[in-house]
Amino acid sequence: MMQTTQFEDMKEGLDYKYYCEGKWKKSTSGKTIPIYNPYNNELVGNIQACKKEEIDRIIQCARDNIECWKDTPLNERVDILRKAAKLIRDWAEPLGQKLMKEIGKPIKSAISEIVRTADIFEGTSDFASTLGGETIMGDAFEGFTREKISMSYRVPLGVVLCIGPFNYPFNLTGSKIAPALVAGNAVVMKPSTQGAITALHYGIILQEAGVPPGVFNIVTGRGSEIGDHLIGNSGIDMIAFTGSSETGKSLARTAGMKPLLLELGGKDAAIVLDDANIELTVKSIVSGAFSFSGQRCTAVKRVLPMPKIADKLVEMVVGETLKLSVGDPEQNNTIGPLISSKQCDFVQGLIDDALEKGASLKCGNKREGNILWPTVLDNITTDMRIAWEEPFGPVLPILRINSAEEAINISNKSEYGLQGMIFTENLDLAFNIAQELEVGTVQINGKSSRGPDHFPFLGTKSSGLGTQGIKYSIEAMSRPKAVVMNLSEKGKLVRECKAGE
Ligand code: NAP
Repeated sequence: MMQTTQFEDMKEGLDYKYYCEGKWKKSTSGKTIPIYNPYNNELVGNIQACKKEEIDRIIQCARDNIECWKDTPLNERVDILRKAAKLIRDWAEPLGQKLMKEIGKPIKSAISEIVRTADIFEGTSDFASTLGGETIMGDAFEGFTREKISMSYRVPLGVVLCIGPFNYPFNLTGSKIAPALVAGNAVVMKPSTQGAITALHYGIILQEAGVPPGVFNIVTGRGSEIGDHLIGNSGIDMIAFTGSSETGKSLARTAGMKPLLLELGGKDAAIVLDDANIELTVKSIVSGAFSFSGQRCTAVKRVLPMPKIADKLVEMVVGETLKLSVGDPEQNNTIGPLISSKQCDFVQGLIDDALEKGASLKCGNKREGNILWPTVLDNITTDMRIAWEEPFGPVLPILRINSAEEAINISNKSEYGLQGMIFTENLDLAFNIAQELEVGTVQINGKSSRGPDHFPFLGTKSSGLGTQGIKYSIEAMSRPKAVVMNLSEKGKLVRECKAGE
């Protein structure tokens, strides 16, 4: 169980505070934002709607603590992260319960999101302790000698702003906080509004682990109201963001020359060739499309099957989809509520558009409250919105194709470029198709997914900017500092090559 007196400071009744200078505070705006359980509409808690002056104060507080944290030896920063990992792991169950209530994630997945975050903190500590620099001799370039030597090491960027999405509010803030802190940056985190209560616990975790007051801070409030003010603040040195492509693009316009790491939307396509192992393919597609009700950036969002396998594939996909449990996330049902009724309306709009234009409904298309039944649509054509738009809900469109070339064209025509999948026994062909796909990652005979977290994770086009993954994130949140030695020629040893016998 979670035990620390800080829990008493963190909230009053159901009102959660924000976290700055190592203290829990109420906004002087007097305004809070209610967070309702998307499954049963019960109030989970209220979070502070921070004012612009409070945001400025939070950022200044982080700035005031850049030097102290940067000067903390790396081995101490690593130790603190390891302690944080242990606390996260110890508190996985109660944090998972909170997460389940706040975003409607099935309880087992909610707990594994927390555990996976502990793994990221540990993996980041392990990698950071091996961080080294680089020494380069000048004589590789004509006109320079070995008397000129560049020695570089990595230094932090300053204050990193970490903004997370609602679907992994703990994990996708943690995957930014850990590399930012270990690299020596001060951090301001702005969690998604839905998900903020769970993410606020980082205040307790990091303080208990030993992060000095003011090095890590949390601001809460609606992104649409405070986002531009946060991003445009000159006290922010770098922004790591996960969310929709629309928000990411708007953020990039406001950020100006600040370095950015953006993880955005996707429309991952599974190309299924005639010789694919059908059991493996169906299992991967159904779990890839419908886990957490399709609210995953790397969900399987379109299937492109070749003619000889298409009928059997559709039949088996529908069979497996009908077996998925639907209902209360506390009972660990695979399909639960979407995050809001507005999101349900959006997904329904995509289904209706496809059906109006001639798609075949194979199962689903039923709604109760915020729950949409898993829906499979066959005979999708490229004039339908569902062929291109990211639903972020439990709907799987099937676009039948006639050749690998057609699959590549349809995949690449997307504005997104997160991941692609190829299911086939012909690894030579798979490799050739993989080389043609304009995406960050191609999975061969596996569903699209993030991780393991030391793998590079990135999107092309509207799917992102920069590369995440433990090593890559630390690199993105630091820069090389080069010191060049210019030695005198006086001490140079002069030796001549001798001719052999
Ligand atoms: P979102 O609406 O774009 O929100 C993401 C975050 O941005 C939230 O914290 C939100 O705060 C904040 N925000 C909103 N407007 C802002 C603004 N003007 N300036 C700064 N921040 C602002 O996305 P979401 O609905 O939470 O997440 C779903 C999307 O994330 C999907 O498109 C999904 O594909 C993508 N995603 C991508 C990855 C990846 O790895 N590529 C992973 C997960 C999710 P509020 O909550 O207060 O609005």
